[in-house]
Amino acid sequence: MQLPSLPSCSIGDIDSDADSEQLRQRITDAKEQLGDKLMILGHHYQRDSIIEHADETGDSFLLARKAADSEAELIVFCGVHFMAESADILTDDNQIVMMPNIRAGCSMADMADLPDVEACWNELLENCNLSDPASRENAELPAEHGQSYLVPVTYMNSSADLKAFVGHHGGIVCTSSNAAGVLEWALERAGEGGKVLFFPDQHLGRNTALAMGYEEQDLAVWNPMMVPDWESLNASTFVLWHGYCSVHQRFTVDQINDFREDYPGALVIAHPECDREVVDAADASGSTEMIRRYVEDAPSGSVIGVGTEIHLVKRLDSNYSDKKVICLDPGVCPCSTMYMIHPAFLADLLESLVEGQVANRIVVPSQIADEAILALNRMLSIVA
Ligand code: SF4
Repeated sequence: MQLPSLPSCSIGDIDSDADSEQLRQRITDAKEQLGDKLMILGHHYQRDSIIEHADETGDSFLLARKAADSEAELIVFCGVHFMAESADILTDDNQIVMMPNIRAGCSMADMADLPDVEACWNELLENCNLSDPASRENAELPAEHGQSYLVPVTYMNSSADLKAFVGHHGGIVCTSSNAAGVLEWALERAGEGGKVLFFPDQHLGRNTALAMGYEEQDLAVWNPMMVPDWESLNASTFVLWHGYCSVHQRFTVDQINDFREDYPGALVIAHPECDREVVDAADASGSTEMIRRYVEDAPSGSVIGVGTEIHLVKRLDSNYSDKKVICLDPGVCPCSTMYMIHPAFLADLLESLVEGQVANRIVVPSQIADEAILALNRMLSIVA
């Protein structure tokens, strides 16, 4: 289907009950007209008035896979930009991926860009006396005896050109649910004395490495705005990019202590994008999908404090009515960029599609997609 593109939608927030009902009807009508051609994907952190229209809900990786497995011609991704890029990379050329609001990015993903990562990469190779896995005939094989490589690992929460960088240099993508397996894979390729460069989220890298038995002295942080500390960088096994999630950064040990005081015997689970101290103080830590399962598996009557985005926490509380699920942050902690997907944008986009016009299409250039998919497929090969 060849359709002309429209510029980005630009409708503001409209939240009265009457407006909400009108928007619900507009979306429902458009969905009905588009039928099987359309699939709407909704990330866990989206507001309920978006989730109610989603054909599939989940975390970024699960949704990208749903897109890849789907035969829908029109895929509307209600999430942030890097997620829609991953969906475009994993889908066929005849599938069109769009976002209701193209300005919805991820502040963590924006903390690492290609020029900064390339500069870091070149400095580490030179100053730590490491080799580029791409210099080998087969970058995917474990390191040979006596060889030390620098292996790049990127979190799903990164731009497509960083995934392509990782693919080109023999590295791999990870999610918050498979990070330990991915780091083991990377260490095997790094070899004795080799290093893993992990970006953009320092907390996921740190929490995963510590849980695998590494210690603080095995970790060093790379901040492109600071003079490198070569002593700790040379001594480290993991070089962690300085990025963080503005939502998960809000959770503190004091909040957990207050929560336990208010609810003696309560359970606590935190997302691994939280600080190390928060993860240590919690009873468990895991990805959004693991948090959902933790709540599901908790005994009826449990009170569970959760350190993650508020929309998911509230939805868990209403979906598991025999348990009390409470956000650890007493202030509201939505992801402000996820919140940029408003039903008004979704209604506009779907109505454009009904009229045969595509708006807000996400297209990853084929040269980038071809290298990014190498890194994604390496991840899939170890998850399977
Ligand atoms: S919750 Fe954090 S990591 Fe997830 S999209 Fe929002 S800013 Fe990015």
